[in-house]
Amino acid sequence: MGGFFGVVSKDDCVTDLFYGTDYHSHLGTMRGGLAVRDGGAFTRHIHDISNAQFRSKFQDDIRTMRGRGGIGVISDTESQPLIIYSHLGVYAIATVSRIANEEELTRRAFHETRMHFSEMSGGGINPTELVATLINERDSFDDGIRHAQELIQGSCSLLLLTNAGIYAARDRLGRTPVVIGAKAGAYAASLETCAFLNLGYTINSYLGPGEIVLIAPDGIERKKPPNDRMQICSFLWVYYGYPASTYEGVNVEEARYRCGAALARADDVEIDMVAGIPDSGTGHAIGYANESKIPYGRPFTKYTPTWPRSFMPQDQAMRDLVARMKLLPIKELIHGKRLLFCEDSIVRGTQLKDTIQGLFDAGAREVHMRPACPPLVYGCKFLNFSRSKSELDLASRKAIRELEKGAAVELAEYATADSEKYEAMVDRIRQRLGLTTLKYQRLADMVKAIGLPKEKLCTYCWDGCEGCQEDFLDKA
Ligand code: SF4
Repeated sequence: MGGFFGVVSKDDCVTDLFYGTDYHSHLGTMRGGLAVRDGGAFTRHIHDISNAQFRSKFQDDIRTMRGRGGIGVISDTESQPLIIYSHLGVYAIATVSRIANEEELTRRAFHETRMHFSEMSGGGINPTELVATLINERDSFDDGIRHAQELIQGSCSLLLLTNAGIYAARDRLGRTPVVIGAKAGAYAASLETCAFLNLGYTINSYLGPGEIVLIAPDGIERKKPPNDRMQICSFLWVYYGYPASTYEGVNVEEARYRCGAALARADDVEIDMVAGIPDSGTGHAIGYANESKIPYGRPFTKYTPTWPRSFMPQDQAMRDLVARMKLLPIKELIHGKRLLFCEDSIVRGTQLKDTIQGLFDAGAREVHMRPACPPLVYGCKFLNFSRSKSELDLASRKAIRELEKGAAVELAEYATADSEKYEAMVDRIRQRLGLTTLKYQRLADMVKAIGLPKEKLCTYCWDGCEGCQEDFLDKA
């Protein structure tokens, strides 16, 4: 995925930039980068953060950095921010994007505009540089950003650090949020609003889809009004957004409590304890426990002193091992109990299967699972979402393949709650995970828990709809 933070200030901004960017560390595991502008001069540092925390990698760099404007980024993919020398002037650029038509735009750059690319990422072009080449095709930053937004399929939110301030632009359909924060003498632009809390910023405005602003220490200038249509990613609230953050006025933790409460209202299972798979299942479990009045417990704790972040080795077997090592069961809370776990979602289910087996090994009588969202049937094609490399790895798709013995199928039937095929798929997943019962959240309940109209939310990974307007809430 990735996340970014930018700040313009009447004073030196490096401390705010450093911590503000660090508060996006849960969104990416590969690269971190900071760029600051001091007068006309830019300084930039990029580090591999796959084996170390962002702060530990940058704490020496920031002693040598100074400036009144800066942008920082945590990335799951390419190295950034990039410093671009162009006819528009020198600028730094950071993006949170997935350019689905990257090949087509690259060909276009070679053959129509005779561009070249100097940055490489994983053997290919650096997508952030591709965005910069599109911006450079126009005569001003605002026109260039509009132009890039029109051409890019997938999603792209970005920050540009220029001599005039920071251009902050939200993706055309608002798949990812960009929020402007303010404090005396400074403005910041951030994906996560939790980055504002300890740095003294308050939320000034949520950029709308496709909106472009220029922030300077003296104020904010709107360069492009928002588009009408929004498709913000629902998964922000369900899984990867930080609990202390708020998007479109809806706090993540509160939305998770409502998700858990909806799961509880739809349930009648007899259990002794409600728990969450740490960390993102915790909020959902608290919501379930509060609604059902069944005690909440922590039969698992996470060992954080030496596994402090979402350390993501490239090798899947190693990732599974790390996930297992982090989670510590408390046998005294597990033995002889009927446990219900809330989980944000079931992606591949491989780690979950081991976790469930571990619970039975520790003496659990029953293990029930309640994911806070419906089965993931379609892979995300709008964000660089690293939880599953291929949609064919999804637990739902594996179950469908087994049920259909590999034959081509209409996925919509499996994505429809209560259909025979849906029930068969869920039962197949339950069997594979070794669960006593498995019951997923209904899409309409999840949408209601988030609290935004369905047509403003992207729900593609559950229903395959790209902007469907059906009245889901009536089906709740
Ligand atoms: S497909 Fe899923 S993960 Fe991707 S933007 Fe939509 S809701 Fe988010």
